[in-house]
Amino acid sequence: MYNAPVVDAHLHVTEDGRWFNGKYDSSLATMLEQMDKGGVDKGVIMGLVQLEQNGYLQRACEESGGRLFAMASFDPASQKLQDIAPYLDSNVFKGVKLHPRRGNYSPLDERLFPLYEAAAQNGWAINFDAFGHSVRLPIDELRPTVFDRIAKKYPELKIVISHCATPWVMEAFFVAKSNANVYLDCSFIIDRYRNSSVLIDLLFTARHLDGKLIYGSDFPEEQVHRYLSLARVEFKELTEEKKQNIFGLNAIKVYNL
Ligand SMILES: [Zn+2]
Repeated sequence: MYNAPVVDAHLHVTEDGRWFNGKYDSSLATMLEQMDKGGVDKGVIMGLVQLEQNGYLQRACEESGGRLFAMASFDPASQKLQDIAPYLDSNVFKGVKLHPRRGNYSPLDERLFPLYEAAAQNGWAINFDAFGHSVRLPIDELRPTVFDRIAKKYPELKIVISHCATPWVMEAFFVAKSNANVYLDCSFIIDRYRNSSVLIDLLFTARHLDGKLIYGSDFPEEQVHRYLSLARVEFKELTEEKKQNIFGLNAIKVYNL
């Protein structure tokens, strides 16, 4: 029987409940309802930089009574570390979400180095959106080997590569295996890339690197409870110990929940 806490470590919310494509309900209430439905104990919300919602996320998490935590959004083109530092002092923020595709910057952009240094010192995690699809940023800026360079330059920095860096899942596996400070999150990809190598490689990663794989849904792109059911089916052959790592314990450790 699975008793460790279940954590969905990749969620988004919007204050008005509207999602960018107009198709999903991204309200806090709907997210919490779906967490209840799926039996999800804790959640980590990834800040959306275009909405400048750090203040809203802080209030939402503080009101959740220890159930919700957040990653502050940061834009290296328009912000300095001191702009987000007050949020990171609050204990509901566990690190920073970076979205290089949206901001059209390389993860190796020097403007990010003060953030990486401060995060390494303070134990904040950095979650990178890493997904090989961009009309502006050259997509090799999002390859796992880029994060391998950052991991080696900042060995104390906790790095989470979202979406297992699809389509480079096996490359991400080797980067996470090579660097003690690199983790992968498997949000968004399970249904979208079914019947492709992505799923085979994800399952391989779950079997051989369960201590580095973090479960998350990417709500509202996926429903919290539905994606959890899909992941449970995919990972059904794993030992209970591996499932506990993936579905909760890794997130608790990395994000310090
Ligand atoms: Zn996301």
